Amino acid sequence: MAYQSVNPNDGKVFESFEHMSSAQLEKALATAQTCFQTWKHKSFAERALVLNKAAELLRTHVDDFAKLETREMGKRINEARGEVLFSADILAYYAKHAEAFLAPTQLHPKLGEAHLESSPLGVLFCVEPWNFPYYQLARVAGPQLMAGNVLLVKHASCVPQCGIAFEDLLHNAGAPVGAYTNLLISYGQSDDVIDDPRIQGVALTGSLAAGRRVASRAGQNLKKSTMELGGSDAFIVLDDADIDQVIPWAVWGRMYNGGQTCCAAKRFIVVESVADTFLAKFKAALEALKPGDPMLEATTLGPLSTEAALVQLLAQVDAAVKGGATLLLGGKRIARPGSFMQATILTDIKPDNPAFREEFFGPVVSFFRVKNEEQAIALANDSDFGLGGSVWTRDEARGKRVASRVDAGMMFVNNLDWADAELPFGGIKHSGYARELGNLGIQEFVNKKLVRSGLIAVPV
Ligand code: NAP
Repeated sequence: MAYQSVNPNDGKVFESFEHMSSAQLEKALATAQTCFQTWKHKSFAERALVLNKAAELLRTHVDDFAKLETREMGKRINEARGEVLFSADILAYYAKHAEAFLAPTQLHPKLGEAHLESSPLGVLFCVEPWNFPYYQLARVAGPQLMAGNVLLVKHASCVPQCGIAFEDLLHNAGAPVGAYTNLLISYGQSDDVIDDPRIQGVALTGSLAAGRRVASRAGQNLKKSTMELGGSDAFIVLDDADIDQVIPWAVWGRMYNGGQTCCAAKRFIVVESVADTFLAKFKAALEALKPGDPMLEATTLGPLSTEAALVQLLAQVDAAVKGGATLLLGGKRIARPGSFMQATILTDIKPDNPAFREEFFGPVVSFFRVKNEEQAIALANDSDFGLGGSVWTRDEARGKRVASRVDAGMMFVNNLDWADAELPFGGIKHSGYARELGNLGIQEFVNKKLVRSGLIAVPV
C-alpha cells in the first residue's frame, strides 16, 4: 500500500491509501492553476480571513489534531498539542503581517523614480516530512498562501491522515478549492509534477537524498526551489557554562520529538574542564526517561516514527561502534511492542568513523571532548551540514562571538528556542538553501518586480 497510517506505539496499521490516479493528479494541477487566477487578485484582508479561521479551528480542535499526529507518527501528546498551537500561531502571524512584508519598496535611482513590487509566482509544489506533520505544512501555507501563491503538497507517506486533515482544515476555513491540495503521489508522479509547466516553484523539507533528487529535477526545469534538509547541530558547552542549567536544555534539545528534529542538538562538544561533570549529569538525566505510550502525558520517551526508522538507527549505532565508538548508554531496541529505542550516548567518535559525519535521527547523543573554545568551533565546523547549533556559557557576549564563527544558518546562545513564526529558518551546506518563515521566507516565491518611472532623457 502506498500511504499507510501505522501506530508506532504498537505497530498496527489503521488506515491505508492508494496513490492518486493520473487523471486525479491532472485534475488537481488544473484546479490549482484555475484557483491561482482568482486567488492572486484577492486582497490581503480576504486571504487573511481564511488563514485566521484556520488558526482558530486548529486552536478549537487542538486535541483532535494532536491525537491523530500521535497515532500516526508517535509524537508525545504534549508535544503534539504544542505543535498544533504553534501551527495556528504561524497561520495567524502571516495573516496579520504578510501585507507589510510584501509592501512595495521605494528605491532611489539617480534618475526618475523606482520601486520594487511583489507578486506571487503561481502554483507551488511542496514536499514535506513526517516529523512535524502540521508545523511543516503551516510553515509553507501561512506565508505562501498570504503571498497569493497556491499549493500542491506531497506529505510523507507515513502521515497521510495528517496531510488530509490539514487540507480539510483550509477548506473548512473557506479556502477556495485548489488553493491547498494534498497529493497522495509516488516519487515518479512527484517528478511529473515538478516537470509540469503549471508549477512555478518547488519547496522541499526532508533528507539530503530527497533534496538532491527533487532539487536537481527542479533545476533541470529552471524552477526556483527551497531546500530544508538535515542537520548535525553542535551543542557547544564552554568552560564557564552553568552545567545544571544546561542539562535540561541538553535533554530537551536532543530528545524532543524522540530526537527526530532536523535542528536537534546532535553533536555535544564539551570543553574538557566541564566534560566529566556534564557527561555524568546528562547520562543520569537520559537514564531517567520513561518509555511508554505517547498518548499518555506521563511518558517522557516515545517511539520512533516508524519501524524502518528504528531499524536504520540501530544499524547506524552498530556501525558507529564497529567503527571504534564507545557505547556509553543504550543503543538497543526497548523490549516492548512498538518501535522504541533506548536513549543512547556514543563517545570516542573519531573522524574516520562514519558516525562522525552522519545525521542520527533519533535519541542518539554523539559526545565529543575538546581542549578549548577554538577546538570546539573547529569541530563544530567540521561537518557537511550547517543547519543550526548552540553555545552555552555564562558570558553572553562570548557566546555571541562563538556563534558568529560557527558555519550554520541558525545559532542559539544559552537557549534552543528554535522556531518562531517571525524568525527565518534554514541552513547552509548540505542542510540546504533558502529560508522558510520570517521576512526572508515569505519572499522566496514572489516576483520582486522593478518598476522605474519618470521622463528620463534618451542616453546620447
Ligand atoms: P525523507 O525521506 O527525505 O522524506 C521527506 C519527504 O520527501 C517525504 O514526503 C518523502 O516522501 C519525500 N521524498 C523522499 N524522496 C523523494 C523523491 N525522490 N521524490 C519525491 N519525494 C520524495 O525525509 P525523512 O528521512 O523522512 O525526514 C527526516 C529528514 O528531514 C531529516 O534529514 C531531517 O533532518 C530533515 N528535516 C529537515 C528540516 C528542515 O527544516 N531543515 C525539517 C524537518 C526535517 P515519502 O514519505 O513518500 O518517502
